[in-house]
Amino acid sequence: MTLTSPRSPSGLEIDDVHLSYGRTRVLRGATLSVESGRTTCVIGPSGSGKSTLLRAVNRLTEPDSGDIRLAGESVLDLDPDRLRRRVGMVFQQFNLFGHRTVLDNLVLPLRSVRKLSAAAAQAVALDRLAEVGLVHKADHRPSALSGGQQQRVAIARALAMDPEIILFDEPTSALDPELVKGVLELIAELAGRGMTMVVVTHEMGFAREVADTVAFMDQGRVVETGAPRQVFSSPESPRLRGFLSQIL
Ligand code: ADP
Ligand code: MG
Repeated sequence: MTLTSPRSPSGLEIDDVHLSYGRTRVLRGATLSVESGRTTCVIGPSGSGKSTLLRAVNRLTEPDSGDIRLAGESVLDLDPDRLRRRVGMVFQQFNLFGHRTVLDNLVLPLRSVRKLSAAAAQAVALDRLAEVGLVHKADHRPSALSGGQQQRVAIARALAMDPEIILFDEPTSALDPELVKGVLELIAELAGRGMTMVVVTHEMGFAREVADTVAFMDQGRVVETGAPRQVFSSPESPRLRGFLSQIL
């Protein structure tokens, strides 16, 4: 399988972001720097704010304060439609259009977001499906595919937007164990191609092998970041040590 390289990689800066839902303070000064062309894995306990952080980058939720910059531009100043073309997102539950074919799942956003003609959209969609090894499923409904195949369609759909960065929120957590590997291999291949990615994951083996940087979140903050070897082998903060001792 051959994958296209990203168009123009760009970095992401999350700077002291605070966000509350009512009286629940979910992000409490989250700061994270994602280098262009690199893969950052975000780990941390359930409820620590990982999904909220990703959603804030794509403006699915709005911070109360702080800033988020993509290639130096504040996402808060960008038109959300334009932002979502630049920032791909892959969810735990795939979020495919269930009543549309696999092909249409790519063609529809190519037409509405990238404004391609029907013919051009179809050509790009088939290329991206070929890249994830699923062109033969183009005319099927997502429900006819395995979970792993559905997630690869979701990744192809994100790639079809030609994004600067892709955010993955626990992309393998909903999969049967035997389907996890194929999806992680695809993400690893994108990492090898220099795609800029943030991957929230509980797959510590993947984080250790593929991440350039691992960020540990706890209670709404990024508590520790570092190279995987450092984070996993010599964690500095007691909270990270406690987290790792529970899961490894
Ligand atoms: P994680 O992804 O690390 O498990 P989340 O970002 O999903 O954490 O959630 C962090 C906290 O914010 C949790 O306590 C969760 O209940 C709360 N939360 C998340 N989304 C909402 C929402 N839309 N409304 C109210 N509370 C929310
Ligand atoms: Mg989450």
